[in-house]
Amino acid sequence: MSRIFNFSAGPSMLPTEVMAKAQQEFVNWKNTGSSVMELSHRSPEFMAVAAQAEADLRELMQIPTNYKVLFCHGGGRGQFSAVPLNLLTSGKSADYIVSGSWSIAAVKEASNYGEINIIDISDTKKPKGKRVTSVIEPSRWPLNPDAAYVHYCPNETVDGVEIFELPDTKGVPIVADMSSTILSRTIDVTKYGLIYAGAQKNIGPSGLTLVIVREDLLGNAQSTTPCIMNYQSLADYGSMYNTPPTYAWYLAGLVFQWLKQMGGVEAIAKVNQEKAELLYRYIDDNAFYSNNIKTDYRSLMNVPFWLADESLNSKFLEEAEQAGLMALKGHRSVGGMRASIYNAMPIEGVEALVNFMNVFAQKHSL
Ligand SMILES: *Cc1c(COP(=O)(O)O)cnc(C)c1O
Repeated sequence: MSRIFNFSAGPSMLPTEVMAKAQQEFVNWKNTGSSVMELSHRSPEFMAVAAQAEADLRELMQIPTNYKVLFCHGGGRGQFSAVPLNLLTSGKSADYIVSGSWSIAAVKEASNYGEINIIDISDTKKPKGKRVTSVIEPSRWPLNPDAAYVHYCPNETVDGVEIFELPDTKGVPIVADMSSTILSRTIDVTKYGLIYAGAQKNIGPSGLTLVIVREDLLGNAQSTTPCIMNYQSLADYGSMYNTPPTYAWYLAGLVFQWLKQMGGVEAIAKVNQEKAELLYRYIDDNAFYSNNIKTDYRSLMNVPFWLADESLNSKFLEEAEQAGLMALKGHRSVGGMRASIYNAMPIEGVEALVNFMNVFAQKHSL
């Protein structure tokens, strides 16, 4: 059967070329007579795969040498615990910016490990339980100059809200949950103390989590920190304190190579911009659909939209599936539809979606 376009928020599409290569190498990797999945993580062969993946990521994101790259378990949510366990020490509190569902989830978890100062930047006129449609710009965030760190989520996957500017924290380390935006556009890594991301959106299959952390932030973990969450021990062991998710690491490496062949982050960012513009423009120009998030904060990766007549929702999803457009149902907390258009979604997928939306609107507008 032919491949469909999958708009899932995660796990999400992987580049077809990557999967074809993985398939070709699956049983007999580089003539070793063995799958890469069957190799010891400490074998020279796997160590080379691991090192190459890290080198390619460093090149793609221009990660300076005073940052460690850690390949971890536990997903984005694992980092909701690992970040405070490692960084929330010496009696300080941490600032947590709240801009939607994922940043709220991060607050809940972090509150178990220390004092959290919640800074709600979602539009204040928003009725309780309603969707976030705008946020306060970073220059106006009321930050604590003595905080251990500032945590925020640049792209709220559920709400479809993305923050493109950074606050000036006057030296307080910025910690960013980039699970759904990493590698989608260029960023200046030196502006961050720590970046983390679950792999299943823009990096590879689930089961792997990336942490990029400035070296001076290591070594102060709370004494109860589990060893597999301790950045210092992970760094000391080259992310192999215990058995890492080797196959996911290998696949992430293939995705990094694919991204390099596509021209790197700057090149994919242009495509991402085009994809998002195409979709938002269509939504804005058609009364049948809406997205009321303030233009400056619209996500390039996750595009929620609503049908003017919500009674047509299930019909929309059914007919979309028949057209080969999958997983467009919005998150249960915000309803409507959501198109996640990560790096691996080709522009053809967004074109097919817009065409389908147009046909559907014409058919049901009467
Ligand atoms: C998906 C996601 C998470 C959670 O990731 P898990 O790997 O499922 O724990 C956290 N933060 C953001 C922004 C996400 O998009």
